[in-house]
Amino acid sequence: MRFSPVAEIRRSALQHNVRRLRAIAPNSKLLAVVKANAYGHGLVALTRWLDNVDGFGLARIEEALALRESGNRARLVLMEGVFAEADLEQAARHQLDVVIHDAEQVRLLERARLSQPVVIWLKIDSGMHRLGVRAEDFPDLYQRLSHCANVIQPPHLMTHFSVADEPGNPETQRQIELFHRLVQGLPGDKALCNSAGTLTQPEAHSDWIRPGLALYGANPMMGGRAEHFDLQPVMTMRSKVLAVRKVKAGEPVGYGQTWRAKQDTHIAVVAMGYGDGYPRHAVSGTPVLINGQRYPMVGRVSMDMLTVEVGSAPIQVGDDAVLWGEGLPVEEIADRAETIPYELLCGTTARVQYRYIN
Ligand SMILES: *Cc1c(COP(=O)(O)O)cnc(C)c1O
Repeated sequence: MRFSPVAEIRRSALQHNVRRLRAIAPNSKLLAVVKANAYGHGLVALTRWLDNVDGFGLARIEEALALRESGNRARLVLMEGVFAEADLEQAARHQLDVVIHDAEQVRLLERARLSQPVVIWLKIDSGMHRLGVRAEDFPDLYQRLSHCANVIQPPHLMTHFSVADEPGNPETQRQIELFHRLVQGLPGDKALCNSAGTLTQPEAHSDWIRPGLALYGANPMMGGRAEHFDLQPVMTMRSKVLAVRKVKAGEPVGYGQTWRAKQDTHIAVVAMGYGDGYPRHAVSGTPVLINGQRYPMVGRVSMDMLTVEVGSAPIQVGDDAVLWGEGLPVEEIADRAETIPYELLCGTTARVQYRYIN
């Protein structure tokens, strides 16, 4: 028997989530966001399964070229754009859509000698203040791109929400209104919504939605759970109990002796640690499923192991543990570690094995 974590990736859950997102935004095309190795699910394998979406969103050119190399002929959008003429030419040659988010990239497009023109998305900064052109600079840059021979006309238009995960925050409405005011009457496709926008801002669905997290079956809303939107977790992180230890009342467990047994009890040691991508900041009490039952993780998470108080339950070496996924929402683990489900899904390390369940 092997005692190492396995991330199970379930195709039926992925397909269910695509159907759900299609039902939620029935008039929009779906750009499946697969940056960061498809949020830790495996870029090539996941995109092969996502054969019924309208395109893929990636952050960096290396990710898009890897997809092309795998034989993917779908529409690919480089959401951070490119920064050098050689990369712009690569994008042209491989027919990658390029996001243009600042004036320097517009100059690059105007100067470049490309083998063929590129599809571009001009990104407007409507309030995130990370990437995107400012509202006051937009009309001029849009005009220049509309007359640029390297651009397949018309330019498409996008923006990104900063607080769509906070229900009721009026900022999202303000961003939607600013974007619509700027792009009104312009011919290109429009795209605003990440997962949170897709799930909660139907009036902003527009031509394209750009969900990432929801595709993988997690809820981006603060305090949210996948089941609130009938989404199913695609990844289930599994491992095994590698030891069961008796601990007496008052004895501490693990580094720093941060937790002590209140009474005589048993500790199951599970083969999963921060070296696999489990969050080291998860607090005592974070649930772990062993044989389908919830038990509290106790003490500090180690590199290769974590410890779970199982009392007198009949748990044995080799029993199955689930760290997140089916039966244990990744959102709940993220909350207990003061992080977000995105970080846990992206953070699985090279040591974790993947099992794809078709
Ligand atoms: C990552 C990203 C998304 C997807 O965000 P989720 O919250 O995972 O749905 C959408 N658009 C852009 C520009 C992104 O960078």
